[in-house]
Amino acid sequence: MKIRVGFGFDTHRLAEDRPLILGGVHIASASGCVGHSDADVLIHAICDALLGALNLRDIGYHFPDTDPKYAGADSTILLRECCRMVREKGWDIANADTTIVIQKPKINPHIPAMQQRLAEVMGVSPSDVSIKAKTSENIGFIGRGEGVSAYAVCLVTQM
Ligand code: MG
Repeated sequence: MKIRVGFGFDTHRLAEDRPLILGGVHIASASGCVGHSDADVLIHAICDALLGALNLRDIGYHFPDTDPKYAGADSTILLRECCRMVREKGWDIANADTTIVIQKPKINPHIPAMQQRLAEVMGVSPSDVSIKAKTSENIGFIGRGEGVSAYAVCLVTQM
């Protein structure tokens, strides 16, 4: 069986006047991610991991932030499209393993809902979507609550 792996990373600034949307789920928070789309940093990292697995460039290449079409876009639409591209090339998505780094709010209570939502969008089982959450120990831009980062790896197998 042929397999390939892809890695993705993303960072967004946090601002007080924005909703916090992570993994397609709205999370109650005093601040949310700033971006051209809905700024779902976790989904953007997963998209880059999927695209990277098949050497299909990156999310900015396919969905440029200069395109008004993607202003305020629901990032689940971008993720769905990345999954479609992977399958169109003849590959199945085996699993995704991800880490969100954010100082607050606490992400752990929201992980089952995020797994469920991402699994629906990606056409996989929730057990194939791992989400881990960490703080930045109060240091750096994440620790100061100025931003959030996400990392993702995805494994794909040839159909
Ligand atoms: Mg992004």
